[in-house]
Amino acid sequence: MEKPQYHVAIIGAGLGGLAAAIGISRAGHRVTVLEQAEVLGEVGAGIQIPPNSSRILRRYGLLEKVEAVSVRPRDFVLRRYSDGKVLSRQNVRPFTETEYGNPYLHVHRAELHKILADATIQAGAVIKLGSAVTSIDFDRPAVKIKGKPDFTADVIIGADGLRSVCREQLLGHPDPPRDTGDLAYRAVVKASDMRQRAELSDLIDNPSINYWIGPGAHAVCYLMHAGDLFNIVIACPDTLPALVNTQKADLQEMWDLFATWDPVFRTLLGMVRETSKWRLQSSIELRKWSHAGGKFALLGDACHATLPYLAQGAAMAIEDGAVLGALMEKVERKAQLRDILVIYEGLRKPRTTAIVNEAAAYGETYHLEDGERQRERDRQFVEEEPFRGFPNRWRDPVLQRFLFGYDAHAEVEKAWETYKMGRWPLTYGEHGLKSNL
Ligand SMILES: Cc1cc2nc3c(=O)[nH]c(=O)nc-3n(C[C@H](O)[C@H](O)[C@H](O)COP(=O)(O)OP(=O)(O)OC[C@H]3O[C@@H](n4cnc5c(N)ncnc54)[C@H](O)[C@@H]3O)c2cc1C
Repeated sequence: MEKPQYHVAIIGAGLGGLAAAIGISRAGHRVTVLEQAEVLGEVGAGIQIPPNSSRILRRYGLLEKVEAVSVRPRDFVLRRYSDGKVLSRQNVRPFTETEYGNPYLHVHRAELHKILADATIQAGAVIKLGSAVTSIDFDRPAVKIKGKPDFTADVIIGADGLRSVCREQLLGHPDPPRDTGDLAYRAVVKASDMRQRAELSDLIDNPSINYWIGPGAHAVCYLMHAGDLFNIVIACPDTLPALVNTQKADLQEMWDLFATWDPVFRTLLGMVRETSKWRLQSSIELRKWSHAGGKFALLGDACHATLPYLAQGAAMAIEDGAVLGALMEKVERKAQLRDILVIYEGLRKPRTTAIVNEAAAYGETYHLEDGERQRERDRQFVEEEPFRGFPNRWRDPVLQRFLFGYDAHAEVEKAWETYKMGRWPLTYGEHGLKSNL
């Protein structure tokens, strides 16, 4: 019997929507991506690509292209905020390659986005810009687009990010993102400028993932853009006015906030010429990601927005896309579409919920006030061999394997086998699966 070909409409050309478009097109289906922006692009600067995500890029044949514009960090270094004392140094390169078969990369978001957008078009998908979706008819299924005729397809995937129209349509009521109480300062410094300062040259010459952790705040800094730019993200308490989610920030205010931090960190911050504040928002676990009619599902930040404290937000969105694509490759009969979406949700929801919760909890560990708990945390970081539940979550052997070892395609193979044996629960929201964390 000939395999069915679906027409899939993906709402949102973010990293998640594009990863899904590539996977689903490669599986032989027709894909249209509906994007509200008039011009394609990604805002923000750096993004970390952990091995669970680079594994998918490899499978898509894109890893070499991404590597060409990336930096491979050597170590993961956690420092104390006040004096820069190293609390933990953990190898990343070659460790993730030998242990997980795939690299950990640092890249500019715009470059990763362009590579995925080019690959989407090459895979045969169409990206329709200037297509802001305003509502969804889940039964037809079809979407309303501002100022344009309705768009119909066999299946609709809502990949429209944190402030998701698709999520609100599925829930049937407004569902704004949740404030986490934190914001992120984001800034970029030229590597060539940093080289002029002896105390900063090691950050450039031996690129690593550099953390400074302190009371209520932590900074994550790394080299990217093939080594030209240094990315700085600082998470700290949210001071943005209500309803303002992004704002150009005052440099002096930022410098004052970190006036008591490690002199090396302050020298770095002193080189920043402009910065912005981004409110960090997340979502709570939805009861379901899919519509009962079996023709609609959510993906990416639209259903599992997370604090970026495990650097897994985009990685999870890319995994979602890869899982959907791999499942779409398996489909044998048109009637299986609903089953595909149930399996997708069952595979993805427990994992992403576990990661969102872990990331929030890790923020609390990073941000401990100075005192007994902080001293015990630092002692464990420095002295103890990692164990399951270890407070330095990057070194927890169980969590690390759960994050970095995930193979989206292998998970689909296992799930499909179970499904074919009639053992995959096929009721939405009742898959009964727990993450294996
Ligand atoms: C400070 C910070 C640092 C981060 N660092 C990392 C990191 O190092 N590693 C990592 O993996 N993740 C990181 N993340 C998380 C990551 O950026 C997000 O999880 C990821 O970009 C989500 O991708 P997405 O495709 O689901 O959504 P988005 O990237 O938000 O894309 C949604 C797309 O949908 C479009 N859209 C929205 N509404 C509509 C509509 N109505 N109609 C049509 N189109 C629409 C938007 O224009 C956009 O193009 C970080 C996040 C922050 C805030």
